[in-house]
Amino acid sequence: MKTNETSLPRVLDGIAIAAEIKAEVGLEVARLKEQGITPGLAVILVGEVPASQIYVRSKVKTCAELGIYSEMLTPPETITTDEMLDLVAELNARDTIDGILIQLPLPAHVDTKRLLEAVSPAKDVDGFHPVNAGRLQSGQPALAPCTPAGIIEILKRSGIAIAGKNAVVVGRSDIVGKPAAMMLLNASATVTVCHSRTVDLSKFTREAEILVAAIGRPGFITAEMVRPGATLIDVGINRVTDAAEVERFFPGDASRAAGFAKRGSTVVGDIEPAAFAVSGAYTPVPGGVGALTIAMLMQNTVTAAKARRGTTAAGA
Ligand code: NDP
Repeated sequence: MKTNETSLPRVLDGIAIAAEIKAEVGLEVARLKEQGITPGLAVILVGEVPASQIYVRSKVKTCAELGIYSEMLTPPETITTDEMLDLVAELNARDTIDGILIQLPLPAHVDTKRLLEAVSPAKDVDGFHPVNAGRLQSGQPALAPCTPAGIIEILKRSGIAIAGKNAVVVGRSDIVGKPAAMMLLNASATVTVCHSRTVDLSKFTREAEILVAAIGRPGFITAEMVRPGATLIDVGINRVTDAAEVERFFPGDASRAAGFAKRGSTVVGDIEPAAFAVSGAYTPVPGGVGALTIAMLMQNTVTAAKARRGTTAAGA
């Protein structure tokens, strides 16, 4: 779809796209089951972090919906790095498990890097293992991190061309910014990566035809920093608890105000909502990129199952 400065921005509906992907994954799981293969995902959740518990529960629930076997391992907060390594080794060796996910953050005393590297690259459905990062970088088939993979799916399934576009990624984390930049590059965009040491950030963001914001600061990218007609991909999930800030971001928005009054907080992305008005297309928060993450995890689990068991059904 062609957009210009005067047309209304298009909302890129992450929930609808995620539903489409989940439906495809469900069909693929059914095909695999006909061959006697049930993809299996193990999720390790250490301790009692409420936000992590919510994420893990919805991952396990989605597995059940799609016919994927799942297992939740819940060691106590006091588990040591060595005990975690034993757990991962057992899951690496278990044939019924195709994907291993270690829910982050881990307690400070556990060596997260060592653990992520202990997961077999073939079962690394989060795409965090250096082997998968390296494969992604060299354009080989890899299990790619779920959030950036979701960004690419949103663009592709919305018919937004990536090749030849000027893409700017703000944020260079290993889980979002860097892999997102790499995937955009693999899709032939001209990519610039910005971060906290970038001088004159606006100079770069204003050039972006595709702008990805993965910063972790509510409304950090303002309307003035955006090129009119650009596609805005807002990865940020920031909980705002200050009423004045909510009114600043969503002036006169009765439904936001009502939600805030009920829960005492609202979720804001890294791009200020006023910037969406000048865009050509944008992902809302919530209901944009965040909605894709679990769908991509399910897809990675099926991809891992097929690759590991030597099946090359459609989509492999
Ligand atoms: P990190 O904190 O790991 O990385 C933030 C990045 O933003 C860093 O590279 C940092 O630069 C950069 N940054 C910080 N301040 C500035 C600034 N003033 N100007 C330019 N760049 C800046 O965050 P994540 O990548 O893990 O997450 C980013 C956001 O995405 C968060 O809101 C998070 O909640 C959300 N998220 C959403 C997911 C989803 O499913 N939708 C999944 C994962 C994250 P530097 O490297 O120089 O410090």
